[in-house]
Amino acid sequence: MAHPASNDVDIDLSHHLSTMSKSRHASPLKDIIKYMSEPGMTSLAGGLPNPSLFPFVKADIEILDPGSSLSPDDATKSGHAGPETTYHLLLDRYGDPSQNTLSKAMQYTGGSGDAQLTRICYDFVKEVYQPAREDFNVLLSSGNTDAWAKVVQLLCEPGEYILVEQFVYPSAQHFYIPMGCKGVPVEMDGDGILPEVLEEILKSWATKHPGVKRPHVLYQVPVGQNPTGSSQTWERKRRIYGLAVQYDLIIVEDDPYYFLQFEAYVPPDAAKPAKPSNGDSDPSLIPAYLQLDIQGRVIRLETFSKTIAPGLRLGFFVASPMFTERLLRATEVSSQAPSGWSQAVVLETLRKWGKNGFLTWLSGVKDAYRSRRNWMCDAIIHNFQFDPEMHPHQGYVARVKTKSGSIVPALSFVPPKAGMFVWITLHLANNPAYKELREKLDGPTAVAQWSRDFWLLLIENKVLLTPGSYYDPWQGPDSQSKIPEDTSYFRLAYSYESREDIEAGIEKLSRAIATSWEA
Ligand code: PMP
Repeated sequence: MAHPASNDVDIDLSHHLSTMSKSRHASPLKDIIKYMSEPGMTSLAGGLPNPSLFPFVKADIEILDPGSSLSPDDATKSGHAGPETTYHLLLDRYGDPSQNTLSKAMQYTGGSGDAQLTRICYDFVKEVYQPAREDFNVLLSSGNTDAWAKVVQLLCEPGEYILVEQFVYPSAQHFYIPMGCKGVPVEMDGDGILPEVLEEILKSWATKHPGVKRPHVLYQVPVGQNPTGSSQTWERKRRIYGLAVQYDLIIVEDDPYYFLQFEAYVPPDAAKPAKPSNGDSDPSLIPAYLQLDIQGRVIRLETFSKTIAPGLRLGFFVASPMFTERLLRATEVSSQAPSGWSQAVVLETLRKWGKNGFLTWLSGVKDAYRSRRNWMCDAIIHNFQFDPEMHPHQGYVARVKTKSGSIVPALSFVPPKAGMFVWITLHLANNPAYKELREKLDGPTAVAQWSRDFWLLLIENKVLLTPGSYYDPWQGPDSQSKIPEDTSYFRLAYSYESREDIEAGIEKLSRAIATSWEA
């Protein structure tokens, strides 16, 4: 499926492959499958189960029209669902071999999965992301968690350092920590990692880590980052890609929230705070790294988890053929192929909707999450006293009154331009309980203790947030995260609860903050 073209910059990146990846051979079992369907072939070779013994006779899956008006609240739950246009995807046990049948979908396949689905994904990538290179491949995966695990094994040796965001998606690092790999956190602002910090780390690596291999893999979630909600601007992506070329990095873009890019948040009462948070109000999608990648050093991880449903466990890699070939070898001997059910359901859905229908669906999903983002941000704005002007780095800064009557900063946040999360920073310098802890403990221990106590207080008040400490990058047993002093972080998801519950949750949070700071 790759189409080499002369304008691609072809450089040999095979030195990035791990010893394990280089040592993989094609599974002889999987290799044989492609011959089985050759006309006239009597195959006594494979150990395929007989499809007449699969219990599935017919599947009828009813799906929404992609143009359905998607209510941000679950209208079915609240009993307000209107009449919906739906389609039926019918899968029979047997039928035209060129079509999807249950006996085919439920059978073992080659590790690369369904060729028609791969083709649809390939065409989608080509048209929607417009990759800089002609020579790229699409390989189906079992979603980004599994895809990242395969990429770590593709590129990393045990004990290596991996460049990560200052706050890192936990599942990503909990795969490589047991390999002895360590994260090198790159400081972030509301637009993702800071290129100047990345450059400094790379430039000074040899002096600061004599004899230790310089990291060659940068893992990042460039859009609606989990947990901070930050999204990289195009300019930032360009600078980071430039550094990847200069310092020979492979960029892994784990991008589940790409299609959930929104217009900048505008508070309901324009008087408080005065400006929308983060610059442009352009709702168009900021292109992916693929569009910059003339050298084939980007591995994009794409998942259907946020655009269709996570239970599918289905996604795909987009990368140079050299990488996808090695990833295919790894797939053959681990997950074998993504789930046949999931591939069949997604293939039929995308066929029914067509490319434009899928884009319409994505836009509807985005609109629903944008409304949810606004509910949460509105509720925060409503429940706290914010400074009239925005802070260039902290975003919206809210103040509370202490017992002594002074007005002090307590919470700040940057409204996200994408994704599912609001990341709040709590400023502890004037918090009485924290000040007490600080008399006995060092800074990081006091922050950890205070954050734990506050989290438990929130739970007592029946609101559950994700502690920021879950996202501290693991830098080895002797190294602490460089979290700014006197600050605590929490992640709030606006993706799931009803509007009422989001508002109630924020109110509970604001009461707990008032109580804690006024004590
Ligand atoms: N990467 C990131 C950054 C995520 O936020 C998530 C979902 N929480 C995943 C990967 C998991 O994706 P998948 O369901 O495709 O495994």
